Amino acid sequence: MDLGQVVRELQHSRNGVTVKTEDGFVYEANYVILSASIGVLQSDLICFRPPLPRWKTEAIEKCDVMVYTKIFLKFPYKFWPCGPDKEFFIYAHERRGYYTFWQHMENAYPGSNILVVTLTNGESKRVEAQSDAETLKEAMSVLRDIFGPEIPTATDILVPRWWNNRFQRGSYSNYPIISDNQVVNDIKAPVGRIFFTGEHTSERFNGYVHGGYLAGIDTSKDLLVEIRKYERENENKSFLLEPLLALTGSLTLSQSDTVSGLQKCDVPTQLYLSSKLGIPEAIL
Ligand SMILES: Cc1cc2nc3c(=O)[nH]c(=O)nc-3n(C[C@H](O)[C@H](O)[C@H](O)COP(=O)(O)OP(=O)(O)OC[C@H]3O[C@@H](n4cnc5c(N)ncnc54)[C@H](O)[C@@H]3O)c2cc1C
Repeated sequence: MDLGQVVRELQHSRNGVTVKTEDGFVYEANYVILSASIGVLQSDLICFRPPLPRWKTEAIEKCDVMVYTKIFLKFPYKFWPCGPDKEFFIYAHERRGYYTFWQHMENAYPGSNILVVTLTNGESKRVEAQSDAETLKEAMSVLRDIFGPEIPTATDILVPRWWNNRFQRGSYSNYPIISDNQVVNDIKAPVGRIFFTGEHTSERFNGYVHGGYLAGIDTSKDLLVEIRKYERENENKSFLLEPLLALTGSLTLSQSDTVSGLQKCDVPTQLYLSSKLGIPEAIL
């Protein structure tokens, strides 16, 4: 397994997939499972050659991407209420979603003196675009509105930027309420030898870690079915070709030589052979 490689191009054909990375590495594969997020699929990080078909790109575009941002603020000491049944507090502001949901970390990490505030979508994108110092100023102003002017200023702040992260382009998929299974089915449907997985391909649990996990299992099963189908078809082809090989005396040729030779046969010969032998599939 090669980690830390950025995939930039997937060239696919009936014979396999060529994966090209940002560092110029090239990998050849019979099949590829692509687990990049729906946001990445909507971006131009990965170039598909040939491009994905329209039914696929349309389905990808139909799925919304949710941006969900947890901002962490570390304080020199606690000034918020703690204890049983006290973990969350809500701030009401005339602007929707403005530093609304707060949570302290005392239950999970006692003594950490950390508060978390959750922002979503528009507010997430707005905050991502400004400096952390600006965000700290806004958050402190809200906290002073709630707890009074005497509270200490946070000593540290962490602002994740899921929207601007080119490997995420959002936090998770959010299918429109009015959408049928066709959208998710099209998003997860393979294109040739490229299989798609990730939380956004999970019909029941999209948006969740277990959705990603279960989708991974499902996709690998689908791929195994496809590989076995392909192998069976090839076995059948070689089984059907045996009498022809004997007939044409071309046993010394490789199977692929023989097939390409047959393609060049004139039509009457092909018809004769197929009707005589009753194996039309053998004439490609
Ligand atoms: C703030 C936040 C809170 C969340 N809370 C919860 C929660 O409480 N419970 C829950 O179940 N879920 C939660 N989720 C959602 C959960 O994190 C996702 O559903 C899950 O991570 C999806 O897994 P995935 O494997 O499908 O995709 P990802 O985790 O996005 O994995 C895709 C991987 O592909 C990599 N990648 C992308 N493009 C390329 C490329 N071109 N080349 C190489 N690598 C690439 C990315 O770096 C990433 O590692 C939360 C998400 C966020 C952001």
